[in-house]
Amino acid sequence: MSDYDVIVIGAGLGGISAGALLARQGRRVLVLEQSERIGGCCSTFEKDGFHFDVGASIVEIVRPIEMAFEMLGTDLYKEVDLIPCDPIMTFLFPDGSRVTYPLSVEKTGELIASLSPEDGRRWNDFVAFASELMEVTLNTFFIEPASTAQDMLRLVRKDPRFLKFLPVFLSSYQDVLGKFFKNEKVLQTMGYQSLYFGLPPALVPGPYAMVPYTEHVGIYYPRGGMIKIPEAFQRVGEGYGMQVRLNSRVSRLLVEKRRVYGVQLADGTAITAPLVVSDINARTLYLKMIGAEHLPGLARRGISSYAYSKAVPMIYLGLDGAPDLNSHHSVIAISPDEINRYWWEHVERGRMPDENFGLICWPTHSDSSLAPEGCHVINLIPEGFYHLAEGTWEEEKPRFIERSLDYYSRSAVPGLKERAKVVECSTPLDFERRLLLPEGAIYAFQQDLPAEAVFRPAARSKVIDGLYLTGSSTHPGGGVPTTIASGIIASRLIEKYEQ
Ligand SMILES: Cc1cc2nc3c(=O)[nH]c(=O)nc-3n(C[C@H](O)[C@H](O)[C@H](O)COP(=O)(O)OP(=O)(O)OC[C@H]3O[C@@H](n4cnc5c(N)ncnc54)[C@H](O)[C@@H]3O)c2cc1C
Repeated sequence: MSDYDVIVIGAGLGGISAGALLARQGRRVLVLEQSERIGGCCSTFEKDGFHFDVGASIVEIVRPIEMAFEMLGTDLYKEVDLIPCDPIMTFLFPDGSRVTYPLSVEKTGELIASLSPEDGRRWNDFVAFASELMEVTLNTFFIEPASTAQDMLRLVRKDPRFLKFLPVFLSSYQDVLGKFFKNEKVLQTMGYQSLYFGLPPALVPGPYAMVPYTEHVGIYYPRGGMIKIPEAFQRVGEGYGMQVRLNSRVSRLLVEKRRVYGVQLADGTAITAPLVVSDINARTLYLKMIGAEHLPGLARRGISSYAYSKAVPMIYLGLDGAPDLNSHHSVIAISPDEINRYWWEHVERGRMPDENFGLICWPTHSDSSLAPEGCHVINLIPEGFYHLAEGTWEEEKPRFIERSLDYYSRSAVPGLKERAKVVECSTPLDFERRLLLPEGAIYAFQQDLPAEAVFRPAARSKVIDGLYLTGSSTHPGGGVPTTIASGIIASRLIEKYEQ
């Protein structure tokens, strides 16, 4: 008899949600996590009384998370204290002006109309388009398997409106925005969000252009930090008997005749189970932990062909007072064309710009308990990349912190550098070392059309029996709600195929 019914590799959101759902099915589940805490990119650490989120800074499009907790027999809002963020985002323009979008769709329309009456009118058309697209994709694409042509047909059968939006899948984020908005300043408040999917507006598939609308459906911050989401899955899963083991790195899968039967840890311990769920990067899984000898040639070439997604550095600041900001999230305004240019000239060539635009997260705006009294937390997520044309991230790190603090103090948050009493930083190399994300890839693989849905590694392995995938590597890709959706998909597939 095997030691467990299911072994989950990695306690990121995809792994911990799948583990809890499989325990709820009555299976004996063991989750193995190599680091000292759960949550992976959606986690929180403490330093000198300040609580910093490792990566993810907010959650939006919460329906898949609600669904996961319903399937667990409980309620998201009972398990996690979600604080609504309103306003949702401030855009900081180079001339010193600011545009702050409230949660309200109507008030946002009025604000856009004050910048451009024409675009204000088009906002209503955009809202109608994006709300229907959101409804259709949430009912189909984001919560169902999409690994085969039959899966795609099932999506269409479930909601035939999916067909109507097919042309949107074939266009880009920028094309979609350009159909609705013309004003440069308005576009500067809508292009940045394409980078949430790891690519510039010219390369992100069109459906994601609904985000400047979906943010108005609700953005939330879990009281106590982003780790409260994976902790809730752990707590509920453990109630169904799931076990979680930290500091347990899996070094390889045990495979015989293309069927998995367990894993081996880095210390040599073997643990057996007829089913393995992997929440780690699928290239590492197939090429390093299973081994080329177990893969047909086509699968080997296929998995090797995926390009890693973008990587970002993150700077964590503990401040001795409040920053001069308006929202949980602020961003230095930048047009879609400028983001595209930055991509071709800097990311593609590995050349660091002098001025790193990016997200400024102010979690203590929502939850003051994250810092000692009177103090605040600011997390900077400047755009960045893994491969540097010159030098290494180890050499670059101190310069990068200094340059970023100077730039953000000058352009966005006066006094930021002087107020910072705690300064920590994760470079893409640190993400690679601490979370084993190859090349620091925060969404595993690029999220362009050739690596989406049927083209992304399948949730139910097509080459190794008993192996299932969750997390950013598989459909529907990187992000808090999407990786939890991948946990739902894997658990349902296992329920269907593995009695
Ligand atoms: C800087 C940053 C900002 C982000 N901001 C947002 C945001 O605001 N909103 C949003 O929706 N999304 C955001 N994301 C994306 C989101 O956080 C991730 O897509 C999601 O959390 C990834 O979940 P996952 O299931 O793929 O697992 P991961 O988070 O990748 O976790 C995988 C886990 O597996 C463990 N592991 C790896 N190898 C092994 C092994 N061999 N043995 C055992 N364990 C192993 C790792 O330690 C890790 O804990 C952000 C990501 C980053 C990095």
